[in-house]
Amino acid sequence: MSSFKVLVVDDEPGIRMGTRRILQNFKVDYPFMDEHIDFEILEAATGEDAIEIIDAQLPDIVLLDNKLPGIQGIQVLEYIRNKQYDIVVVMITSYASLELAVKATRDGAYDFIPKPFTPQELRASIENITKQLFLRRMTQNLNTEGKQIRFQFMSVLSHELKAPLNAIEGYIRMIGEKQMGDNVDSYQEMIDRSLERIKGMRQLILDMLDLTRLNSGKPMHKLQQIVVSDIARISKDTVRPLAIQKDVDVYVYCPSELVMNFDPGEMEIILNNLLSNAVKYNHEGGRVDCRISSEKDQVTITVSDTGIGMDKEEQLHIFEDFVRVKNTKTRHITGSGLGLSIVKKIVDSYGGKIKLQSYPDKGSTFTVILPREFSFEQIN
Ligand code: ADP
Repeated sequence: MSSFKVLVVDDEPGIRMGTRRILQNFKVDYPFMDEHIDFEILEAATGEDAIEIIDAQLPDIVLLDNKLPGIQGIQVLEYIRNKQYDIVVVMITSYASLELAVKATRDGAYDFIPKPFTPQELRASIENITKQLFLRRMTQNLNTEGKQIRFQFMSVLSHELKAPLNAIEGYIRMIGEKQMGDNVDSYQEMIDRSLERIKGMRQLILDMLDLTRLNSGKPMHKLQQIVVSDIARISKDTVRPLAIQKDVDVYVYCPSELVMNFDPGEMEIILNNLLSNAVKYNHEGGRVDCRISSEKDQVTITVSDTGIGMDKEEQLHIFEDFVRVKNTKTRHITGSGLGLSIVKKIVDSYGGKIKLQSYPDKGSTFTVILPREFSFEQIN
């Protein structure tokens, strides 16, 4: 486990102690990290003390009150900037001096937290900074952008592939050593589980390829007039095996004459991901309805399911890379956490929108709105 040093600079002992209490058992992890990061708290009651500690201990994060007895917070910030220390400074400030805090962020502070803050607010802010700082440091030594992206991807890939590979290796060894006797049937469950993990790895690799292409910087759309119902049919066929396995009925409605200017591969990625999620996160015997329609210059795709749904909190980050909802209902469902972020990246690149309405145990509806006549001039 590695630690970040957090220096709290405030003349109110209550704020210093409160921060210590809130952060002392707090840990942050990230898919790129092999281990958690926790926090060592340092304290200073004045700006002068703060500078001494900064020089001696080089903290990673400084939580800095502006109103201090001697030199002011803003001068401490200036000192850190002049020394070019790799420290993230966050101003902690009362509502009365918000304006000053905003000015501080212009002078190099990363952010500000208004006082009084709740433990959740402080933790959320520290989590954010920690992830930023971690990524920044990880990629700092790699000079070209290509190298950075490759490095991130390789870290994630190795992290995400290690667990299923270990599991499969374990099963194969058990089978090889005939641990369950000579009856071939006894091994069926291990074989099924291995195949399931292989499926997960294959999906992850395919998702990573899509993501690499989308992250390459330029829109690479192979635009052509597509008949949307043809692609919807392919996607429906793609999810059919999963739907049969889960006993979920999938209905797709799309006017046969609906034509739009779009990359067919990307339309397939959007529909495949939304449909397969609607099946994957559904209940046995559930239902999925996909409706595609057009109105004037836009095409709307809605995918509704009768599945496990998500609460408001769970919905917050699901469009980000590698984010999966972790609860008892999703524990046994495999996925990379990339599908929706890929869908969103594609939708954004066309200037479209994606929305979600979801209720736990009732189901989810994803709505995608896309321009019907897209041309490259529309994005800049
Ligand atoms: P994954 O590969 O994990 O399915 P996605 O990016 O496609 O990744 O989805 C992110 C998370 O959003 C999923 O892990 C799941 O928890 C949640 N999710 C996505 N679609 C649905 C849905 N239709 N119903 C309930 N939860 C969903």
